[in-house]
Amino acid sequence: MKASQFFISTLKEAPADAEVVSHKLMTRAGLIKKLGAGIYNYMPMGLRVIRKVEAIVREEMNRAGAVELTMPVVQPAELWQETGRFEKMGPELLRIQDRHGRDFVVQPTSEEVITDIARQELRSYKQLPKNFYQIQTKFRDERRPRFGLMRGREFTMKDAYSFDRDPSAAKASYQVMAQAYRRIFDRFGLTYRAVAADSGAIGGDLSEEFQVIAATGEDAIVYCPQSDYAANMEKAEALAPAGPRGTAVQALTKTATPGKSTCADVAELLGVPLSTTVKSLVLATDETNEAGEIVKTQVWLLLLRGDHDMNEIKVAKVPGLEGFRFATLGEIDEHFGCKPGYLGPIGLKKPLKIVADREVALMADWICGANEPDFHTTGVNWGRDLPEPDAVADLRNVVAGDRSPDGQGELAIERGIEVGHVFYLGTKYSRAMNATFLDENGKPQPLEMGCYGIGITRLPAAAIEQNHDERGIIWPDAIAPFTVVVCPVGMDRSDAVKATAESLYTDLLAAGVDVILDDRGERPGAMFADWELIGVPHRVTIGDKSLKDGMVEYQHRRDAAATKVAVADILAHVK
Ligand code: ATP
Ligand code: MG
Ligand code: MG
Ligand code: MG
Repeated sequence: MKASQFFISTLKEAPADAEVVSHKLMTRAGLIKKLGAGIYNYMPMGLRVIRKVEAIVREEMNRAGAVELTMPVVQPAELWQETGRFEKMGPELLRIQDRHGRDFVVQPTSEEVITDIARQELRSYKQLPKNFYQIQTKFRDERRPRFGLMRGREFTMKDAYSFDRDPSAAKASYQVMAQAYRRIFDRFGLTYRAVAADSGAIGGDLSEEFQVIAATGEDAIVYCPQSDYAANMEKAEALAPAGPRGTAVQALTKTATPGKSTCADVAELLGVPLSTTVKSLVLATDETNEAGEIVKTQVWLLLLRGDHDMNEIKVAKVPGLEGFRFATLGEIDEHFGCKPGYLGPIGLKKPLKIVADREVALMADWICGANEPDFHTTGVNWGRDLPEPDAVADLRNVVAGDRSPDGQGELAIERGIEVGHVFYLGTKYSRAMNATFLDENGKPQPLEMGCYGIGITRLPAAAIEQNHDERGIIWPDAIAPFTVVVCPVGMDRSDAVKATAESLYTDLLAAGVDVILDDRGERPGAMFADWELIGVPHRVTIGDKSLKDGMVEYQHRRDAAATKVAVADILAHVK
């Protein structure tokens, strides 16, 4: 590619709404261009990165035996009604109508459609196992789209779905995917961790997230440096001993207001037993305007000690709490714009009512905990101006230094960006949609499923969070928009420079190197600044002076200075 033919558009200033470095740099480097909230154009430079991510994913998915297809972005609501998700899934699901008033959804994921395909196509055990995948546009009406491609509303996901005859075969398919994911993330050249994730009631231990390690990540992950134990905070807490940590202040329990706020009262209201596991319950009411947009949310947080599944509790059944809906902690995090994890399994000494605008959500000095001695934490702060993971860790059931569940050492906590997720589904969807196959005895059996996602467009953002400096992006070779840039200095003045640049460019191309020749005629300073911002990992500079000795200058994006290399040796340097 020649830069004069390509499209390069860099900016000095980052957009005002860009909070994280990847969003700033992707915009400044001209990789993306905002169209609306959480909706971006993938500009030519950015699309090259996305295509490379896709190519690696596609290659490894194919290698793992998955088969590619494409499902529609716009999907009939009927299928989503079969599983109940049309009603159940919150406002993240974009529902639309056609000219006849028929309901559709814009796919946030595709379990329903793939299960519909499977129930028609996978009729016999002889056709199993099967794994279908697509690399396709998704839409999730995220409550707080932000951080550029990191949390977009429209984004690209690779989603795969496995179909098997029984749980053990399904678990084997899950393991094939978990291994394929390791190969994929190894190839991206990023530092990542596969962590155990909560799989709800069905999956047992069969859910893992692939987290790119970055201080700005939205997820807290717990790992043991002495062993291979790693889990996301949610999962780690689910296994940890009950009881929020922090400064336990017994005296405060005396001031706790009795009434409907106590755990016992709430438990009684909900008709659940008080037992040993601490879980938090979040109730929220939304105030909407005439257009149906949420203008205000009121949130009540209560702490329950009870071993039960919150999703099973139907709020409508609870006297005095009609009109509320359950909100997940994630939703609350998003609403307040704070990093997930800031609201852990904490409760309040009385039902504190928060009425907050989308933008104003700073709450200081809360007292959290159950209405029971030694289960309180004081001075809890919520809000988006609290980037102190350590302070947050103190509020959790799991803190750095805890003994690892495998007994191998102490736990450490770091932050990550979820770029992939593998999940054993069991028969959740196949039963709801009556997707069966005939076994050897001609008996219909529900298909055993798994689902596997990769955030194709989130990945470049995660790569940048992990790899950048004050000058710009530093791409790993595997996903760089170009691997090598050839920068001739004074091309218009020197025939030798021009000729060498052209021949080097041709040779590199012939050797299969993804090279761009910067023939725009920019001054060296501006030219170098552009490529450092864009983050091309290898740069070859050609100037008259060193060329006289048959040399050019080579500089890796991480090198402090250039080194002289003979023209003939350049290929070895960049390959
Ligand atoms: P998150 O916890 O970040 O909201 P998720 O758990 O809802 O993600 P999954 O349903 O597991 O996401 O989807 C698979 C993958 O799709 C995620 O691992 C992530 O990489 C990507 N993804 C999810 N939501 C977004 C988004 N809004 N923008 C970009 N990528 C996303
Ligand atoms: Mg999500
Ligand atoms: Mg997640
Ligand atoms: Mg996930």
